[in-house]
Amino acid sequence: MIFRGLLGGHRARADVLRTTSGRLVTMRIVSLAGGIGGARFLRGLQVAEPEAGITVIGNTGDDITLFGLRVCPDLDTVMYTLGGGIDEDQGWGRAKESHTVKEELAAYGVQPQWFGLGDRDFATHIVRTQMLGAGFPLSQVTEALCDRWQPGVRLLPMTDDRAETHVVINDADGRRAVHFQEWWVRLRASVPAEEIALVGAADAAPAPGVLDAIREADLVILPPSNPVVSIGTILQIPGIREALSEKTVVGVSPIVGGAPVRGMADACLTAIGVETSAQGVLEHYGAGLIDGWLVAEEDAATRLDGVEVAARPLIMHDVAAAADIARAAVALGRELA
Ligand code: GDP
Ligand code: CA
Repeated sequence: MIFRGLLGGHRARADVLRTTSGRLVTMRIVSLAGGIGGARFLRGLQVAEPEAGITVIGNTGDDITLFGLRVCPDLDTVMYTLGGGIDEDQGWGRAKESHTVKEELAAYGVQPQWFGLGDRDFATHIVRTQMLGAGFPLSQVTEALCDRWQPGVRLLPMTDDRAETHVVINDADGRRAVHFQEWWVRLRASVPAEEIALVGAADAAPAPGVLDAIREADLVILPPSNPVVSIGTILQIPGIREALSEKTVVGVSPIVGGAPVRGMADACLTAIGVETSAQGVLEHYGAGLIDGWLVAEEDAATRLDGVEVAARPLIMHDVAAAADIARAAVALGRELA
């Protein structure tokens, strides 16, 4: 059954031309995405633009192998959120989750114990690992997983190659590079990052379909995802930033009033020497990438030559609020196109 998605491989392209309900799309939108911020924005975008064909380029820099299983947290957050399987309060992982496998692994003393994988979620990683082991690239595996979840978007990993974010830290155990998840989840980013690097980026290629989707897009949207370890990672895959520079790109600031709305993006921005502000993130992306920038009302003074800035409420309290933000992003994009 997991191979159903693969047999329908040619459908993926048609999805760009037709919505899930079979109607012709009015607009082709490409969105980059990390986890929670990206997924919640995308759910709003689907409400705001039900006739649009949406292709999502997902961050895989957070991916990690645990207990022999390949885990892709950001792809799964997008897939579960848009597919109706997400734990809404937590923002990641499956709803109605139990943790028997995690407890049993802990009873054996198996490490690591700091990464939360629920029983339902484990099944996703088992299927993924089995298919990767059989030789399928991550893009095809993701398509097969989405065949179950029907997220209503075409979800592509940024690359099929292994490119993982590592963080250089210096604590009681000395100066060393750890996997991003160890810094983010185990250490809660409490130890300053001296450097954040996407290991393998230079040799990675965009996954099949990524550059074509960008080329064919009427509008590209950067949702309020982490500018360093979500969007920043995707932009490091050779060819993606160049392809985006040809397009109308509208970004939504993940920083409101000088702080991340959720999470610890400030720790990532500080590590790369960027101020935690809507202005700092905009300057970091640059006018070569961004054409339109949505900021919160308290950040209305944000300015950069060559970029149209619009201010509006940017907190995604619920799907309706996310849809309002998405509507504003599309409207700004239409104005600029
Ligand atoms: P992660 O991979 O799960 O960390 O998620 P993302 O990279 O997609 O998004 C994380 C970013 O989303 C953080 O920098 C948050 O500030 C931002 N974010 C989360 N919720 C909101 C919101 O309601 N509004 C805005 N503007 N940003 C948000
Ligand atoms: Ca992430």
